Amino acid sequence: MSDPIVIIGAGQAAAAFAGKLRMLGADRPLTIVGDEPVLPYQRPPLSKKYLVGEAAFDRLLLKPPAWYETNAVTMLTSRRAVAIDRAGRLVRLEDGEELPYATLVLATGSTPRRLPAAIGGHLAGVYTLRGKADADALMADFQPGRRLIVVGGGYVGLETAAVARTRGLEVTVVELADRILQRVAAPATADLVRTLHREHGVDILEGAAVARLIGAGGRLVGAELTDGRVIDADLAVVGIGVAPNAELAAAAGLAVDDGILVDEVCRTTDPDILAVGDCARFPYRGRSIRLESVQNAFDQGEAAAAALVGAGGAYQPQPWFWSDQYDAKLQIAGLHHGYDDTLQTDGPRPGSHAVWYFAGGRMIAVDALNFPAAFVTAKKLLEAGKAVSRADVETKPLKELLG
Ligand SMILES: Cc1cc2nc3c(=O)[nH]c(=O)nc-3n(C[C@H](O)[C@H](O)[C@H](O)COP(=O)(O)OP(=O)(O)OC[C@H]3O[C@@H](n4cnc5c(N)ncnc54)[C@H](O)[C@@H]3O)c2cc1C
Repeated sequence: MSDPIVIIGAGQAAAAFAGKLRMLGADRPLTIVGDEPVLPYQRPPLSKKYLVGEAAFDRLLLKPPAWYETNAVTMLTSRRAVAIDRAGRLVRLEDGEELPYATLVLATGSTPRRLPAAIGGHLAGVYTLRGKADADALMADFQPGRRLIVVGGGYVGLETAAVARTRGLEVTVVELADRILQRVAAPATADLVRTLHREHGVDILEGAAVARLIGAGGRLVGAELTDGRVIDADLAVVGIGVAPNAELAAAAGLAVDDGILVDEVCRTTDPDILAVGDCARFPYRGRSIRLESVQNAFDQGEAAAAALVGAGGAYQPQPWFWSDQYDAKLQIAGLHHGYDDTLQTDGPRPGSHAVWYFAGGRMIAVDALNFPAAFVTAKKLLEAGKAVSRADVETKPLKELLG
């Protein structure tokens, strides 16, 4: 075999890398090693349509099963990589098999943070949501009338809360920070989303910390908050963020700092090893960032493949994201980090709003709730690098902003 490529991790970024490589005509031997028992699939529906029971798993697959054979991609499922031998250029699998590589791609994703076992994180009925197996287990426990505690008011937690309400569960969200969505959105967006959930009967407790989960016979029966309140519960979903899967990289001596450090063409500190998707931390406008989104996994996977075969340059992300809760759609363009001003505008129908973020007088991001025109406009403006001020947004119709 000449110059084999091995990808560790079989998710969104791996599929994008493999697809782009073959699209560009590169025929180097390619093997994808994934520890899940299924072909690469989309994760977002796991807290949305799949969890409600409205999307069959087949519809989540990123590529049809026949694609792998047609494109000469060896897909290993239920196989875990446990070590990288950089000197010998080998990937070692859990079952002892060794795969030689000339180029190695780390697309290992991230893992949800858990509550420690010492405070009940290990109890039956306590879930995190990352993969199909998690969603399947949760679905079986989502019975009408059951009481769910969602620990963490981020997107995955709030989406899960929305699905649970739709399925007839009683839901309490417990958020440690003084408001939901604190890490990812401005207060104005959090206000809109909080209202949405309260209208659907979700109890949202902000500035409230879980002291411990209470068990009986090994199964969750409630939670005690640090202020002494006790909430009865049949199940809990812990959505308190993720950690990048960087252990293999660190053990192999690659530079790691809350993510595997890569340059603008996705190379780690070993030029024969690339990293893409949730697990990678990359340079962006003078800083180093890590993104946890489909946009990033897809675009970075494609960018790495193009750069590898000399068909592309630096990865320059145009970040966007979405979240579906009940029948509301939140669409986010840009990154709001470093904003110093926001402006809320209303869309054409009740319940449609946009929160615009500005830094130094220039629009840097928008959160659009049921307002696709604002999302699309902001996304195009950001992609074009066009400067838009608060006064522009206040005074001009959306179409004119694009001018
Ligand atoms: C419930 C949920 C909802 C989401 N909703 C949205 C959304 O609405 N919009 C959005 O943009 N993003 C959303 N995301 C985030 C998005 O799905 C991720 O950012 C994206 O999947 C990252 O792709 P990735 O390829 O980097 O990692 P992943 O898709 O996580 O794939 C990594 C794969 O590598 C495997 N792996 C790890 N280590 C090894 C190893 N040593 N050996 C073999 N295999 C290994 C993992 O098991 C996994 O299968 C959501 C995520 C979740 C979990």
